[in-house]
Amino acid sequence: MINPFSKLGISDDVVNAVKELGFENPTPIQEQAIPVLLEGSNDFVGLAQTGTGKTAAFGLPLLELIDFKSNKPQALILCPTRELCLQIANDIRNFSKNKPSASIVAVYGGANIMQQLREIRNGVQIVVATPGRMLDIIGRKAIDFSNVKYVVLDEADEMLNMGFQEDINDILSTTPDEKKTWLFSATMPPEVRRIAKNYMENPTELTMGTKNTGNVNIEHEYYIVKARDKYAALKRIVDYNPDIFGVVFCKTKMDTQDVAEHLIKDGYNADALHGDLSQQQRDKVMQRFRDRNMQLLIATDVAARGIDVNNVTHVINYALPDEIESYTHRSGRTGRAGKTGVSICIINAKETGKIRQIERIIGKQFTKAELPTGFDVCEKQLFGLVHRVHNVEVNEEQIDKYMSRINDEFADLSKEEVIKKFASLEFNRFLEYYQNAPDLNLSADDRGERGERGDRRERGERGERGGRGAEAGYSRLFINVGSVDEFTRGDLLSFVCNNGRISGKAVGKIDLKGVFSFVEVESAVAETLLANFKDVQYNGREVRIEVSGDAPRSSNRDGRRGGERGGFGGGERSGRREGGGYRGGNGGGDRRSGGSGRREGGNGGNSGGGFRDFSGRSREERSGGSGRREGGNGGERSNDRRRRS
Ligand code: AMP
Repeated sequence: MINPFSKLGISDDVVNAVKELGFENPTPIQEQAIPVLLEGSNDFVGLAQTGTGKTAAFGLPLLELIDFKSNKPQALILCPTRELCLQIANDIRNFSKNKPSASIVAVYGGANIMQQLREIRNGVQIVVATPGRMLDIIGRKAIDFSNVKYVVLDEADEMLNMGFQEDINDILSTTPDEKKTWLFSATMPPEVRRIAKNYMENPTELTMGTKNTGNVNIEHEYYIVKARDKYAALKRIVDYNPDIFGVVFCKTKMDTQDVAEHLIKDGYNADALHGDLSQQQRDKVMQRFRDRNMQLLIATDVAARGIDVNNVTHVINYALPDEIESYTHRSGRTGRAGKTGVSICIINAKETGKIRQIERIIGKQFTKAELPTGFDVCEKQLFGLVHRVHNVEVNEEQIDKYMSRINDEFADLSKEEVIKKFASLEFNRFLEYYQNAPDLNLSADDRGERGERGDRRERGERGERGGRGAEAGYSRLFINVGSVDEFTRGDLLSFVCNNGRISGKAVGKIDLKGVFSFVEVESAVAETLLANFKDVQYNGREVRIEVSGDAPRSSNRDGRRGGERGGFGGGERSGRREGGGYRGGNGGGDRRSGGSGRREGGNGGNSGGGFRDFSGRSREERSGGSGRREGGNGGERSNDRRRRS
């Protein structure tokens, strides 16, 4: 049978090398990219997540295209971090192990430059580099790139995030114009697009999976807790997952250190990885993690970039990243090489908006999860122990000599009693800690109006935001402005029409809430409106508008959660404050009974002024709430809210 890599055009010596690495079949990205790149005649843009087999996708074709009889640099691979640089160089060395004349040099900061210069002088065909050190070496005139035929920009979005744009420009300017550029990126923000535009000619573009869609093997969950309960929540998650092998992301070096120290003190096998550690310390921490001699790696974004460790079961966002795009990189540390993983966010109530933004970027919905109770944890740990005892590999030779003494010790106990005592050993420890443990989940009251969606989601009911369908022919849109922004429904109508550049006639029901609202628009104009809303800001804040989703999923994945709380307190509160909207019940009630009503006649739209009134007497109006607006001037305020552009 022909090896599938041979079928793609890879030669025998390389096929044999990857076979030894355990690569039996190409990953999807390899399958798609290898034949294209092997042609060697095109620029290339590959939108691919980490952990998808990217390195071989470009590494194998490079090995076919390079002339190993020559000792001149012919390929340059730029990547954001030292870890990734070492990883790539190492991978390509492995792929080329049957090519005796292949020489691959890794060039990165924080290591002895003289050694790297020596290796370059000795002759090299493939240079793998981080931009800063590469530029340093170019500055010393220690490398000749005049024979470079291929430049690979790996994790291009990360390189730009880290401010390497200018370095990349400078490096690329030392390579021949005719070279081909292959760019790989997990996300495609405008800056990366710009690189593709500036440096590439008609690149072949491949998207692995849907654009911006996160790895399908990763489940995303979030937990809402009070800020002061974050650490306890982290512990509970870890305790509930006895076999966790995870990366915990913090925002600052100090937090990283702090969380790691607390965990260590509390008996967990954890350590910190951040930029204040020396390179040697970082290497040591990484090695321990790689060898699985450590269960939890607590890291900053920068330190964790490029970490390539398989079988990570959980990524925990102890703090959400400042740059929403970083979430993809964080979560991509799990679910690698076909394995499944969970990416968890521990957030406070105010951060649910950010979760929605992340959902948009990754194209997947989060599950709002409930922290397990202390009892849940004890039970899980107990059975974890029972399982481990049952499956432990017994070293007969070593244990045999102690068996008679052990049996003597247990002579007065029955088998059942021995089992009970062994199980209690672990159970008691957790019971002691957890027996009076509080519920860390934020209650609906704590969450205020923001809790509405979550609570009902948990119950598997149709939520305010997602559940209620729009009228036929209309799309229901969620927008993150509302009465707290001092918007009336009229203001909102005008705001939506002006910025979305649609006619007021296309707008249906408007449901003004506290920090967000819902607007129904004719489905035919929804897309135009959403496109026009790009980059719109209000009061310095990005305005988010999106089609409100379908009925939300229940978070009751394992049947453990949900149904614990009563009442939709948050909903009621916000209802009262805003004089409208949701008042308990099924959430659809007041709209059906008039709600925010039907608009009549308004000419609205682009003129900026022109909505007229809400003639349908809404419940709010009846109860003297945020009343009706009379024609024409409602757009004034919103006229000031201009798009940034
Ligand atoms: P990468 O995206 O290149 O970092 O690869 C992620 C992981 O998948 C690495 O550990 C690779 O060794 C592994 N890998 C890449 N390609 C294959 C393949 N075709 N079969 C099995 N494992 C692979």
